[in-house]
Amino acid sequence: MSIEHHQHPPVHPPRRTLMGPGPSDVSASVLAALGAPTVGHLDPYFLKVMDEVQDMLREIFQTRNELTLAVSGTGSSGMEACVVNLLEAGDKIVVCTNGVFGGRMADVAGRIGAEVVQIERPFGEVFSVEEIKEVLEKEKPKVLGIVHAETSTGAAQPLKEISEAVHEADALLLVDCVTSLGGMPVKVDEWNIDAAYSGTQKCLSCPPGLAPVTFSSRAVAAMDARKTKVSSWYLDMSMVRSYWGDSRAYHHTAPINMNYGLHQALRLVLEEGLENRFSRHYSNHCALKAGLKAIGVEFAVAEDHQLPMLNAVKIPDGIDDATIRGQLLKWFGIEIGGGLGPMKGKTWRIGLMGESSCNTNVLQFLSALELCLLQAGYELPPGASVAAANDFYRTTITG
Ligand SMILES: *Cc1c(COP(=O)(O)O)cnc(C)c1O
Repeated sequence: MSIEHHQHPPVHPPRRTLMGPGPSDVSASVLAALGAPTVGHLDPYFLKVMDEVQDMLREIFQTRNELTLAVSGTGSSGMEACVVNLLEAGDKIVVCTNGVFGGRMADVAGRIGAEVVQIERPFGEVFSVEEIKEVLEKEKPKVLGIVHAETSTGAAQPLKEISEAVHEADALLLVDCVTSLGGMPVKVDEWNIDAAYSGTQKCLSCPPGLAPVTFSSRAVAAMDARKTKVSSWYLDMSMVRSYWGDSRAYHHTAPINMNYGLHQALRLVLEEGLENRFSRHYSNHCALKAGLKAIGVEFAVAEDHQLPMLNAVKIPDGIDDATIRGQLLKWFGIEIGGGLGPMKGKTWRIGLMGESSCNTNVLQFLSALELCLLQAGYELPPGASVAAANDFYRTTITG
């Protein structure tokens, strides 16, 4: 007998507080935009939406790059789009790997036959300009790829000086901005980044489904000088770009409603203002940190490289990772992330991304965590974390 699908109830997802490594909480107006009437991919109305999405993305990437658009697919499709368009088989890329996402970039490049050189740092650490200079001198790559905000470890990679070194070596700088965009400064033009990709589901607070990308004129020139076709038909920017550009040539059907959602999410980012948004992310990170410190929970990353939107903390001795995360979800509807790779079972990843970065989430999470930890026999002064976070907020609240 065949399954009668119409007998399944309609989807009715639970309401969660998303404080993991993504997706983040999505505002009601973004969800509403996703449900607006679908139009055709060449409808004049949709073409206007596309133009406005590009405009707003340029503002958020802080760039004047003409080639700035939203690739179909999640953040990983942005990664793949950048790698496969910039590199041909035999081209050399240096990938800086200090977490899961650097490793992925290397994997993508290897699959198209690029010559991949990886330099590594332990999870949670960042790269120095000196070691970048050294590898550039030795390898003379076409591209150097690096992750700005390593979501798997919670570490923030400074880029400005690295960019200077990359350009002195006449290479292209490719940066993963999936988690940083919309939560901390990403200055594509000022930092001279040649190709950057992001995703909708982290600090832009739109459901997963699109990948904003931007390419400098140097990157475009490198793509125009290719001898071979881009190995991915779907992600070939020479074709995608003529649909987003003046010729509007059909390539694949844009995910219409996802673009509506992104349009609204970008409007919210710009309405708040980039600087306000960055300081909101930073201040909630500080409040969370003050709260965790008061109950003896430490950060896994050194103070000067901590990401504001992804807080990787050490799980206290004797506490079971899965039990606490399960209780947070079951009792409070709060999702946080576990560690990845060597950090699995040893760290929690607490996201304060986009809409999720707010004082109510910080306070609710701290009080929920206290309860779960007390339940597990961990000794702490009850209420101390909430009091410490509130102390922080008291000194910053105005009006
Ligand atoms: C989430 C993430 C990705 C992958 O994005 P998806 O939307 O999961 O495809 C890539 N890089 C970083 C740094 C990320 O945080």
